[in-house]
Amino acid sequence: VRQEDTVARQGGDEFILLLPEIAHPEDALRVANKILDAFQHPFVISGHELYVTVSIGIAIFPTDGNDHGALIQNADVALYQAKEQGRNAYRLYTPAMNAHALERLDMEAHLRRAIEREEFRLVYQPRVHVLTGEITSVEALIRWEHPERGTIPPGQFIPLAEETGLIAPIGEWVLHATHARLRAWHEAGLPPLRVAVNVSGRQLSTGSLIPVLHAIVRDCPGAASLLELEITESVAMTNVEETLAVLRDLHAMGFWIAIDDFGTSYSSLNYLKQFPIHALKVDQSFVREIPGDPNSEAIAATIIGMAHSLQLHVIAEGVETAEQLDFLACHECDEVQGYYYSRPLPPDDFVRTFFVDGAFTTNVPVG
Ligand code: C2E
Ligand code: CA
Ligand code: CA
Repeated sequence: VRQEDTVARQGGDEFILLLPEIAHPEDALRVANKILDAFQHPFVISGHELYVTVSIGIAIFPTDGNDHGALIQNADVALYQAKEQGRNAYRLYTPAMNAHALERLDMEAHLRRAIEREEFRLVYQPRVHVLTGEITSVEALIRWEHPERGTIPPGQFIPLAEETGLIAPIGEWVLHATHARLRAWHEAGLPPLRVAVNVSGRQLSTGSLIPVLHAIVRDCPGAASLLELEITESVAMTNVEETLAVLRDLHAMGFWIAIDDFGTSYSSLNYLKQFPIHALKVDQSFVREIPGDPNSEAIAATIIGMAHSLQLHVIAEGVETAEQLDFLACHECDEVQGYYYSRPLPPDDFVRTFFVDGAFTTNVPVG
């Protein structure tokens, strides 16, 4: 930058560049491009080449703000957009972005109150044993009944919950609600059925998970063997040493653990074999393309084979058609989950549909 410009560290990994003497907005873009170019080159530290990505948000005086507060705030909105667009990019502030930012704030405020207002519920999707058609376990999936917008799927609020830290109380609610469901089914005289819940990366890394699970097990020692935790491959493989320690604790407490969305990230097989897990879930992106796409077929078959050689169980998700099921059965996939058998259902519907002659079953063995 030039003599008259200012570079300041705002905090953390955020910096402010103040360019007081620009003639056109394009000049700001030129500077942004120069910075992006500079970061194309690695930093060499102790012989390792390290790359850093940058995201830049630009606000221009006076159109985007009349004082430093408004300029910084709007640059921040544009920065957020640049990050959302995939990083290593810059974005100029536009008023439309503010509408988007306001909507996020509104959603965040609602999300904060959603737990007290009991706006969450869980729906249940069976995992089906391929050979017998029996239901081995069930996955609990969260839904948000928003008072104005109706049912909101997790994809639309879990990322925000993770960003804002609200995932901790929401995750805790999910575990308690699951435990309450297990108890209700037990009291209704139903046979024990393991319930799998999704655990987010932040629950693992902030340590908010273990105390909640301890409380559940203290209250009800049998609960651990009926609770399964699904952790995505990408979460499991970030901070692997830490993950390994947490998974060992969970395993020691008696919980079942599965690796979710397998095949979408990069697994260290060396760690995978050390993880005390019982199953891998083949990601639905591969299942969607079988049979037909040779790459997806090969990947699905390879995951199944690899899991079996590691003595792990394999569950394929997103199974929608008989052809997918046939392919998976031929390749000795153990269990399947998907719309072919059932959409995720409210608990009463689930029991009404699948509790038949004293057992949870689809009554549809594939053979
Ligand atoms: P996931 O764990 O991979 O869950 C599978 C998703 O695929 C679910 O979407 C499920 O409804 C959907 N699905 C099941 N069968 C089929 C099928 O045959 N075809 C298609 N196209 N989709 C199918 P959902 O319920 O919208 O959940 C999306 C994601 O949100 C989940 O992906 C999970 O990562 C996350 N999530 C859900 N509940 C929770 C929760 O309680 N806590 C956390 N942290 N994350 C959750
Ligand atoms: Ca899952
Ligand atoms: Ca999944």
